[in-house]
Amino acid sequence: MSEQNSNNRRGFLKKASAAAIAGSTFSLAACNLETRKNVNINFNNTYRWKMTTTWPPNFPVVGEGCKMMAEWVKEMSGGRMEITVYGGGELIPALEGFDAVSSGAIEMNHGAAYYWAGKLLCAPFFTAVPFGMNAQQMGSWIISGGGQHLWEDVYRPFDLLPMICGNTGVQMGGWFNKEVNSLEDIKGLKMRIPGLGGKVFAQAGGTPILVSGGEIYTNLERGVLDATEWIGPYHDYKMGFHQVAKYYYYPGWHEPGPVLELICNRSKFNELPKDLQEIVRTGAYRLNRWMMAEFDAKNGEYLQKIIDETDVRLTAFPDDVMSGLKKATTEVIGELIETDAQSKRVYEHYHAFRKKIMPWMNISEKMFYNQMT
Ligand code: CA
Repeated sequence: MSEQNSNNRRGFLKKASAAAIAGSTFSLAACNLETRKNVNINFNNTYRWKMTTTWPPNFPVVGEGCKMMAEWVKEMSGGRMEITVYGGGELIPALEGFDAVSSGAIEMNHGAAYYWAGKLLCAPFFTAVPFGMNAQQMGSWIISGGGQHLWEDVYRPFDLLPMICGNTGVQMGGWFNKEVNSLEDIKGLKMRIPGLGGKVFAQAGGTPILVSGGEIYTNLERGVLDATEWIGPYHDYKMGFHQVAKYYYYPGWHEPGPVLELICNRSKFNELPKDLQEIVRTGAYRLNRWMMAEFDAKNGEYLQKIIDETDVRLTAFPDDVMSGLKKATTEVIGELIETDAQSKRVYEHYHAFRKKIMPWMNISEKMFYNQMT
């Protein structure tokens, strides 16, 4: 850089920062007046909200995170907003959060969009697509790629406002008592695998079986199930699956970074003072980041425990099993978007975003991951 250029640049930066300071002082003053006029805070009003969850009471990471968010909101609002968190079944059955928040009986629910697939076929696209985008990419789609707008559009008729609020990261493929050496081994295999992953598994010849979390261990032990997926090493270890299964397969092709959601009753959210609305949004956003960090930290620790303490064989799915399941995924999604116009709209948006960012992801994250040791 010539000296002349360098002087010009320094001069520009000096002017720009002086203008920025003047601008911010001015807008801050204007904003204070504006804010005071609009917020109209009544410090005597305490908003008491209920948050139901689809998780068992005090469930590690997700359940404990919701309680942390309630604390943050209370602190940030100076006690003007109190959220009481309930585990699944404590106030309403675990999977009734959608209806309860939609009707306004409950103000908010923490769970995952794919639990609502029975009411809204396109909902799973806002959680995870088999072989689809990972946690980082899903976050990018929702926060910066227009996904949030679309999600709100889809939920609006139910008077629901969705927010991104956590992610497990790539899950594990699951616990198996039969070895999976080829696609043939999937045929007739009885596995607990819900959601779109389950449909793909069925398409590939497997038998998905619906079993609630509390029954999986016994069913695996008794051979009612040949396999199960759950989450990742931390939660899987706590469930004790290593005591009743021989193989632990990776990766979790069916849930490569499921987004967890907070839904609020939209009308009730709109009735909150503006500052409390921002406090709820901020709490959800912080929880979104905390859960991802906590999952990675704990999964790393517990994977090592599984390796050190158990005789389980930790192994990758063979390539041809992965490509067979990928083909089945294309078929299942193809069928879904053919029969449901809203799923088509959501999937096309999802897919277009993925196509747009993958060339960048391929030479950045993916390339670097391959070089990491
Ligand atoms: Ca899972």
